[in-house]
Formats: sequence, C-alpha cells, structure tokens
Amino acid sequence: MTHTDIADTEKAGARPGDGGPKKVFVKTYGCQMNVYDSQRMSDALAADGYVPTETLEEADLVLLNTCHIREKAAEKVYSELGRIRKLKDERARDGRETVIGVAGCVAQAEGEEIIARAPVVDIVIGPQTYHRLPDAVRKARAGGKVVETDYALEDKFERLPQLHKGEVRRRGVTAFLTVQEGCDKFCTFCVVPYTRGAEVSRPVSQIVAEAERLAEAGVREITLLGQNVNAWHGEGPDGRQWGLGELLFRLAEIPGIARLRYTTSHPRDMDDALIAAHRDLDALMPYLHLPVQTGSDTILKAMNRRHTAADYLRLVDRIRAARPDIALSGDFIVGFPGESDADFEATMQIVRDVTFVQAFSFKYSPRPGTPGAEMGDQVAEAVKDERLQCLQALLTTQQRAFADTLVGRRTDVLIEKPGRAPGQWAGRSPWLMPVILDEKPGEIGDIVDVRITRTGTNSLFAVTA
Ligand code: SAM
Ligand code: SF4
Repeated sequence: MTHTDIADTEKAGARPGDGGPKKVFVKTYGCQMNVYDSQRMSDALAADGYVPTETLEEADLVLLNTCHIREKAAEKVYSELGRIRKLKDERARDGRETVIGVAGCVAQAEGEEIIARAPVVDIVIGPQTYHRLPDAVRKARAGGKVVETDYALEDKFERLPQLHKGEVRRRGVTAFLTVQEGCDKFCTFCVVPYTRGAEVSRPVSQIVAEAERLAEAGVREITLLGQNVNAWHGEGPDGRQWGLGELLFRLAEIPGIARLRYTTSHPRDMDDALIAAHRDLDALMPYLHLPVQTGSDTILKAMNRRHTAADYLRLVDRIRAARPDIALSGDFIVGFPGESDADFEATMQIVRDVTFVQAFSFKYSPRPGTPGAEMGDQVAEAVKDERLQCLQALLTTQQRAFADTLVGRRTDVLIEKPGRAPGQWAGRSPWLMPVILDEKPGEIGDIVDVRITRTGTNSLFAVTA
C-alpha cells in the first residue's frame, strides 16, 4: 500500500449493499503518542470506509488503544473488555457483527495472551504495525483471529494513508506529529524500550510534508512527539545531521504554523542547538516538559537515568539563561525500590529548587520484564501513598503560585474552540495553560492579545487586552 490521497479517503464513506458506512469507535489510553496513533489508525480505516463514532453502542469496530506504562493502566483494558463483551453479545442477538481490536502497548506486551484471557478480542495489534490494521480488520470480519505484534521491517509511516484534511480540520487548530519512536535508554522502571522498540527517527522530508499538510488544513500549533523526542536526529536537506533544534527552525518556516512544542524530553539529550532554539525561535513556546523522576543521586543511578541531580539543576540554569520566561514541567516517581526517607526528601528538595508549573507524579509500579521489578527492597504501598501525597501537595502549591503571577499580565492566546459555557471561548497560553475568554476576541485559529484577570482550578480567565 502506498499513500492514499485525500480524494480516495473522502469518497470511501459508504459501502454499497451493507447498510451505509461502517463505524469505528476508538478509545485511547495513556500518552499523547497514543492519541496521535489513534488518529492515524482512524485515518487508515477511513480508506476502507470506516467513519469515526463517539458512541460505543453504534460501533461495528471497537479499538482500544492501550497503555502498559503502569499496572493500573493495563488492568483498565481488561475491565473495559468485560463491558464490551456484553455489548458484542447483545449486537450479535440483533444479527449485527462487532469486531474488537486491542492496539497499543498492552497489545505489544501481552500478544495472544489477550485473546486467551478475553476471547471477545478479534485483533491484537502492536504500535509498530498499525498500518496493517485495515488488513487485520478484513481478516477478522472473515472470522479469523489476528495477532500482529512483530516489529515491522517496513516504515509504517510510509505505508499509512496521508492525513485526511477533513479529519484534521475536525480535530482543531492544534495537532500532534510523531517524529521519533522507541527508546534505547532502558531506565530500569520503564517498559517503553520493550513495547515500542528501539529508537527510530522519522526523516526530515516526511516530517516537513506532514507538517505542511497540517498547516494547509488550518493547524496553527504543532506538538512534536516522541518517547525521547529530543533524541530525534536526521539528515537535513543541507546534508548535515540535524537535531531537534534545527528541525524546529525548519518547521517554523511553514506558512500558517505559529506555535511549536515538543514532548517528552530526556535531560541527557538537551543539546546546545535545542537550547539555542528556545532563545532564538519565537514560534517555540516557552514551555518544556523535562522529567527528572527523582532528586536522589542514588535512585537516579538505580533507575539508570545516567545523570545526577546537580546535572539536572545545571541544565535548568542553562535553559533559563537562554529563555528566562520558560515554564518547566516534570514527571516524578515515588517509591522506586530502595527509596529511603532521605532519597524522597531529595526529590522534595529538587522540586523546591527548580519550581515546576505542571507535573505528573506516580507511585512506582513494578512492570514485568523490567529490572526494577526484580530489585529487592520494594517500598510498601502505604509509604508510596504518603510520599505521593506530600509531593503532590508541593507541586500543586507551585502550580498555583505560577498561575497567580500571571494575573494582571498580558499574553497571547491561540483561540481553539468554544468554551463550556455559552458565549465563552477557550484557548491556550504560551505556557500551555488553558485560557477562558468571556467574549469572542477573534476566530478559531487566531492568536489574540489578552490580559489575565483571574485563575480557576486548572485554567486562567482573560479579557481582550
Ligand atoms: N521518556 C520520558 C523520560 O525519559 O522521562 C518518559 C516517558 S514515560 C512514557 C512517562 C512517565 O511515566 C515517566 O516519565 C515516568 O515518570 C512514568 N513511568 C514510567 N514507568 C513507570 C513505572 N514503572 N511506574 C511509575 N511510573 C512510571
Ligand atoms: Fe522509558 Fe523515557 Fe527511560 Fe526511555 S528514557 S526508558 S521512555 S523513561
């Protein structure tokens, strides 16, 4: 299969003779990369006549795009499959067929065990092979069970249909674009190198073509994605090896693209060119997700993060010297094996030293097959609970304090959609925080100058400046 053009995918809605278009319901768990993958899977299925539905009950094809990062995330999938089994039985009584697929990292990690545990499942398909999904669906509809979890040798991005402009428009003026997949870092707590495979960067020409297509469909802000996005590298049109910094400069040249972001970064891959991009590239938003996980050198070493707390602090200083208004966000794990009270206090200290405007903090979850799960000295659940509460209280205080500093200030906002209440409009500040406007200051996709008037629980309120 090669690129399918927009004309093919748009005319593919109806299936003669079998009661109108087939409907696909996709439920996405986990990270932004899964959101992007779900979109690309829907696009691939559009070429076979599937239209998306938000209602599970009317779906002919149900896809769960799963996350394996923590045990809870994986278990959720099985409880959802229980619910879906009832639905499939009810529909079968009415003579309607339903195909059930499990995609994503649980599919990759558990393979055919999923069908053994939940026989309702027809398709198990890993993240590296979702370009083969339309084929798998055809086989399943013919009565087969399909398991596709090998790491495909072909480039799935080359084989996927091009972005569907109508769908891109429907999704709004901000978009994700995966530039890098997989990971070679093998942090001892993490399943990603096993579920997503080795680190791969997409070529510059492919990324630029996709970004141009997004821009043509009205996208104003692109967030580049990768499990290790700042490890992205590729040969530029000038023949030199580019890093993410150079790529961002190139993408900023695309007419219509006003804002760029990227996530998730590893501290070891923040090179000088990328830091310089934060200084020199206006389109690059002053927000950086830079997980540190813990402030303890002992635990950083046990996690195989390959940097110290002091390295991280020095890096933050360099980034802030380049872009003083940058807002930092992070990921934290509490209760990694062997974490003592003093280790946990080091995490609290690094949070006080850095100050984060946003953070994701988790209790360590031992993942089968990772070195962390085999380590002695696992921390008791009650201790993890207590530490998590303590850390989250500090992070919330920092987040609120940052929001308070914005009150009275002017900033720009990209208008994204109508707000929840009638007459309201919603967008985002450069620091990623949602901003609610009580009047319509422009059209969706416009970037407008506003003044922040007050803070809400997770958002800011503003008026036109
Ligand atoms: N590549 C990114 C990095 O190096 O920071 C992180 C990607 S990972 C998909 C997202 C986050 O999930 C991690 O930063 C970590 O905080 C959390 N995480 C990963 N494995 C975990 C585990 N076993 N238990 C708890 N949290 C975990
Ligand atoms: Fe997982 Fe990130 Fe470590 Fe890779 S760098 S193993 S994705 S936590």
